Amino acid sequence: MVAFSQGVKTMRIIILGPPGAGKGTEANLLTKAFGIPHISTGDIFRNLFKGDSEIGKRAKEYINRGELVPDGITNELVAKRLDEDDVKNGFLFDGYPRTKAQAEALDQILLAKNIKLNAIINLKASDETIITRLAGRRVCPICGAIYHIKTKRSKQSNICDNDGATLVQRLDDHEDTIKKRLTVYHTQTEPVLRYYEHSGLLVHIDGSGDFQKTHLDVMKVLGDQIDKN
Ligand code: AMP
Repeated sequence: MVAFSQGVKTMRIIILGPPGAGKGTEANLLTKAFGIPHISTGDIFRNLFKGDSEIGKRAKEYINRGELVPDGITNELVAKRLDEDDVKNGFLFDGYPRTKAQAEALDQILLAKNIKLNAIINLKASDETIITRLAGRRVCPICGAIYHIKTKRSKQSNICDNDGATLVQRLDDHEDTIKKRLTVYHTQTEPVLRYYEHSGLLVHIDGSGDFQKTHLDVMKVLGDQIDKN
């Protein structure tokens, strides 16, 4: 609770980084530490698939091809999410913004609501690390728990420890699609880093090692950011 113990009342964070850099894991730790909602646009889209909406069906096609969902759809869903009550003490964006146009739209959304960000964290990892991590990732279709065939095995092979469901590989975690997602990241999402370069909020953290070390680094940086701003 570094930041809140220093009298800070809100924590508004963006986590950036390539797919597989550990944004989801770090986001879970931070949202617990600060008691703020985790807003993952990837999760928003995956939840939409479960229903029968037109927007969910469209999003699924882009996602399964490893492409980005169009900015218009994504920005609208994010603006709606920020109207909900639970974001008043802060929020953490994971996987948004993913294009320069989304970053510009987010600035407008935040300006209209008169809210400011506290920190933008960029988790870094090489393409090689990412391919190894994502191609071995398995998820529970029931509870969403995440495993890895080498580094985080379930007790019984391919079965979720929590509920006994058979683990699955996300379609977008197949190696060809991962490579495409990385290309999309380098061409479309890296410009977001340049967009925030002079914001005074952007910090770079190594996401290639152990997630606990990454978390310690992030917490330290958040403390420093709060002191600075
Ligand atoms: P993630 O779980 O964050 O890796 O997202 C899974 C997929 O959802 C991505 O590969 C994109 O197809 C889509 N997606 C998630 N967030 C965004 C976003 N901000 N803009 C466009 N597409 C997104």
